[in-house]
Amino acid sequence: MEAKLIRSTFIEFFKSKQHQFVPSSPIVVKNDPTLMFTNAGMNQFKDYFLGNDVPKATRVANSQKCLRVSGKHNDLEEVGVDTYHHTMFEMLGNWSFGDYFKKEAIEWAWELLTEVYKLPKDRLYVSVFGGDAGDNLDKDMEAFQIWSGIVPEDRILFGNKKDNFWEMGDTGPCGPCSEIHIDLRTDEERKAVSGYDLVNNDHPQVIEIWNLVFMQFNRLSDGSLKELPAKHVDTGMGFERLVRAIQNKSSNYDTDVFMPFIRAIESKSGLQYGQDEKIDIAMRVIVDHIRAISFTIADGQLPSNNKAGYVIRRILRRAVRYGYTFLGFQKPFLYELLPLLAENFGDIFPEVAAQQDFIAKVIKEEEASFLRTLDNGLKKLDQLKDELNKNGGKIIDGKIAFELYDTYGFPLDLTSLIARENGLSVDEKGFVSEMEIQKNRSRAAAEQETGDWVMVSQEEGVEFVGYDYLQAQSQIVKYRQI
Ligand code: ATP
Ligand code: MG
Ligand code: MG
Ligand code: MG
Repeated sequence: MEAKLIRSTFIEFFKSKQHQFVPSSPIVVKNDPTLMFTNAGMNQFKDYFLGNDVPKATRVANSQKCLRVSGKHNDLEEVGVDTYHHTMFEMLGNWSFGDYFKKEAIEWAWELLTEVYKLPKDRLYVSVFGGDAGDNLDKDMEAFQIWSGIVPEDRILFGNKKDNFWEMGDTGPCGPCSEIHIDLRTDEERKAVSGYDLVNNDHPQVIEIWNLVFMQFNRLSDGSLKELPAKHVDTGMGFERLVRAIQNKSSNYDTDVFMPFIRAIESKSGLQYGQDEKIDIAMRVIVDHIRAISFTIADGQLPSNNKAGYVIRRILRRAVRYGYTFLGFQKPFLYELLPLLAENFGDIFPEVAAQQDFIAKVIKEEEASFLRTLDNGLKKLDQLKDELNKNGGKIIDGKIAFELYDTYGFPLDLTSLIARENGLSVDEKGFVSEMEIQKNRSRAAAEQETGDWVMVSQEEGVEFVGYDYLQAQSQIVKYRQI
C-alpha cells in the first residue's frame, strides 16, 4: 500500500465512523505563549478540551503537520541517528469532544490496524497507564478491561507517567493514555527475546505507532491537575511510522515517504545510501530537515535570529553542515529539493507547492550565506581539536563557542554536535555568559532589532495571509488586520 493511500484510508475510515475531516493547522503557533510550534494534532483543539470554545463537530479526524524541536517534545538529537524520530512529521488523529470515550477509541484503533491495514496481531503490544503516586492517580483499569477483551493479557503492559500520561506542555490539557506498539524484528529475533520486554526501550525495531489519549485533566501552572468539564479522546499516530509498519521496512526512510528524497541526494552527491553509517545519517538528517524547514517557511516563519525563526535557521545550518562534511556539498543544494517536495506533498499540503519558488529562494540564500563562513569555522574547530588533543583537554571553551556563533554563524547546538562527534563537549555556561556580555554591550550601544527578517505576524491583531516578494531578501510579508 502506498503512503498516499495509507493516509487517505485513515481519513476515510474515520469518516465512516461519522468523523469530520479538519485540515492541518499551521506548524507555526501564533497567539499561544506556551508553544512555539505545533507538536501534536490536538494543539488546534486545545480550547475545545478546556471548554473555552464549542466545536462545530464532536468527532473529527485529520493529518497534522508537527514539529518536535523545542520545549517538552524535542527530538532533534535523535533525528537521523535513529530511523523513527523526525523533526517534522505527520500525526494522524481522531478526536472525540465529549462524544465517545475509551471503548470506541480502542476498538476502532484495533479494527483499523488489524482489519483494514492488516498489520499482524501477533506483532502488536498495547500499554495502559499504570498510575502515579505523585499525581495521586490510579491505574487505568478501564482501558485494561477493554483491551483484555481484544488481546491476550500478556500483550498488555502497564506504563509509567513518562510513557502513558500525555501532556502537551508544562500546562494544558492532559490525561492517561494507551499506546499501540509494533515489533518489526525478524521471526528469529522475536523467538529469542519477547517483544514485551522491548516496548518503550528505544529498540529500533520495536516502536510506538499510536497513542490514544484520554483527556481528562488540565495541568495548571502550579502543577496541579484539574478535571476538565467533559471527557475527550485525542489520538495521534505517526504517519511515517505507520507507513513503515505497513510496508514492512526496517526504517522510516526506506518507505516511499522518504525514498524519493534519499535517491535525489544520492544522485546529487554521487554517494550511495546504505554503505556507510556516517553518510546514511547525513542523508537521513538532510531529507528530514528539508521538510521541517520548507513546511515551516510555507506556514509563515522565515529563518531569523530570533525565537522560532532561529530554530528554523539552526535546523537549516545543521543540514548544510551534514551535507558539507559528509556528502561533499560545497554549494547550496537543499533548495533544489523543493520541486520534489511540492510533487510529493502537494495533494495533502498544497501550501508548499503554492510557494515553492519563494521557499527555494529563501533557503538558497540562507545556505549561501552560511556556506560563506562554514569552512573557516570548521577549520577553526579543527585547530582547536588538535590543540585539545595535544594537551589532553576535552572541553571547548565557552568563549570560542561564542566566537564560532558570532563570527562564523555556528549555532551552539551545531558546535556541540561537532564536539560530540569528536569526543569533546562545550562549556555551554561559558557560552551563555559570553552571549550575555555581548547583549549588554549592544544594548548599551543602541536599541536595535537584531533579526534580519522581521516577523510582524508575532504581533497581536494581525493574521498572516501570504507572501509577496520582489527579490529573495526584500520580500513583503502581507498581513491583514483581524
Ligand atoms: P516516542 O516515545 O517514540 O518518542 P511519543 O510517545 O513521544 O513517541 P506521542 O507524543 O505519543 O509520541 O505522539 C503520538 C505519535 O506520534 C507516536 O505514537 C508516534 O507514532 C508519533 N511520533 C512521536 N514523535 C515522533 C517523531 N519525532 N517523529 C515521528 N513520529 C513521531
Ligand atoms: Mg517522544
Ligand atoms: Mg512514547
Ligand atoms: Mg506516546
